[in-house]
Amino acid sequence: MEQRLRSETKALLEQGKVDCIVGFAPGSLKFTTTPLITREIDDIDRLIISPFMVNNLAVYLTELKGRVGIVVKGCDSRSVVSLIQDNKVARENVVIIGIPCPGMIDLGKIEALVGRERDELDDIVRNGDKVQVTVDGQAREFPASQVLFDNCLGCELPTPEEYDILLGEPASQVADQATSHAAISKLKEKTPQERWQFWQEQFSHCIRCYACRNVCPACFCQRCFVEESEPQWLLPVPLWQDNLFFQVTRNIHVAGRCTDCGNCEQACPVGIPLRSLTREMYDIVGDLFHFKSGIDKEAPPLMTHYEQEEAESLFR
Ligand code: SF4
Ligand code: SF4
Ligand code: SF4
Repeated sequence: MEQRLRSETKALLEQGKVDCIVGFAPGSLKFTTTPLITREIDDIDRLIISPFMVNNLAVYLTELKGRVGIVVKGCDSRSVVSLIQDNKVARENVVIIGIPCPGMIDLGKIEALVGRERDELDDIVRNGDKVQVTVDGQAREFPASQVLFDNCLGCELPTPEEYDILLGEPASQVADQATSHAAISKLKEKTPQERWQFWQEQFSHCIRCYACRNVCPACFCQRCFVEESEPQWLLPVPLWQDNLFFQVTRNIHVAGRCTDCGNCEQACPVGIPLRSLTREMYDIVGDLFHFKSGIDKEAPPLMTHYEQEEAESLFR
């Protein structure tokens, strides 16, 4: 698949069908990848396909000029479609190179299972529904369901449906909705007061680095409300109340656009379980409006139109 990725992207650049390619290259740390954005044919051999391609590369589309060839997993392709729905990206300006996605490996889960830091691991190899981890020369095998990201275990469309080139057959999925929703279910067992305390505690750790916003393709406002000075919605110091307000507002802004790619939670340097907010909103949007983000590029975006029979008279 990697060879085909390189030959297809090379041909796109050589034939002038795209101005640049956005894909994944090996990261500087073990078991990581890094986004590669290039116009150079010589760079194409650095493109890889790996079980550690966590970034949602659709985030770059609103910044890049010209025609872009972009490598996408299922959730990323939905983000591209969502950007097309919002008129942020023109379909004719993207060549979508789809990767049928078997789910990405959560290094944090592997570290917890083997009791070792990632630098101490010799190798991690995915074989179908098993993942083999080698430490000190000893191989141990785990079911993939134990080591994939929670969002991957609840993924609804791992194989991109919108693409120009699909690299391979639809992926066989390792699904486990109970594990995927475990953190949310645990929160729902709490009383409202306990939940309030939980989020107060979590957001007292937030350093307002905005990594969660910056990695998110659905957060595309040219000027984010947090940067407004008139009115000033948030104080510059990261008080927990303002941090919570930021995240609740962000969650409403991405409702109907979030594809549960999990990047915001994965990017958070202090480990705030942001997906418990975003996935819950994703499910609420599905239940209330029967709307799935990034499925139909012709459909109007969720939050920008209303129906004649809208229940709230305010909207009529
Ligand atoms: S959410 Fe789905 S498409 Fe996205 S990385 Fe996980 S399994 Fe792949
Ligand atoms: S990534 Fe985490 S610490 Fe940074 S602003 Fe978002 S919630 Fe706060
Ligand atoms: S809110 Fe988080 S999970 Fe949703 S699209 Fe943005 S980065 Fe992905």
